[in-house]
Amino acid sequence: MGIEEKLPSGFLLTTVENAAGLARKSSVFGATFGLACCAIEMMATGAGRYDMARWGMEVWRGSPRQADLMIVAGRVSQKMAPVLRQVYDQMPNPKWVIAMGVCASSGGMFNNYAIVQGVDHIVPVDIYLPGCPPRPEMLLDAIIKLHEKIRDEKLGVNRVRAAREAEEAALKA
Ligand code: SF4
Repeated sequence: MGIEEKLPSGFLLTTVENAAGLARKSSVFGATFGLACCAIEMMATGAGRYDMARWGMEVWRGSPRQADLMIVAGRVSQKMAPVLRQVYDQMPNPKWVIAMGVCASSGGMFNNYAIVQGVDHIVPVDIYLPGCPPRPEMLLDAIIKLHEKIRDEKLGVNRVRAAREAEEAALKA
């Protein structure tokens, strides 16, 4: 009897998915998008006191092409929206987004024509983090929840999302 017949059905696929999920969640590189006051708390989170290296996140990337996490920290103006989308498009798949603070999540107190009423109008958001501003502990909690999501993600999920985004971009063009 070959080894394949001795293993439970789906064993090898599950193992590869688990290994990929573990590797991905342990090496998330952030491309920061600090836009307002929330960015101060985001910078504090990256400082030594909170030690993000514990989760393999000590490296922040200046280039979106080397990053797979975008943290949108602060309100997004209409003028900044296309820039934000361009940076997001330059990030390779798989990629994730955290909307940090009420302004990034929903426009917050800036309910006016100049501010995008939630960054999910521009890019898909994985985690919405409430607060004005959220404390570093809250951002760390959001990051840990995102890690769990990344770990459990099925292989190919982001390819599906990328295809959907390409379809939406084609419809807008
Ligand atoms: Fe500033 Fe509060 Fe908006 Fe964050 S949520 S950008 S702290 S006003």
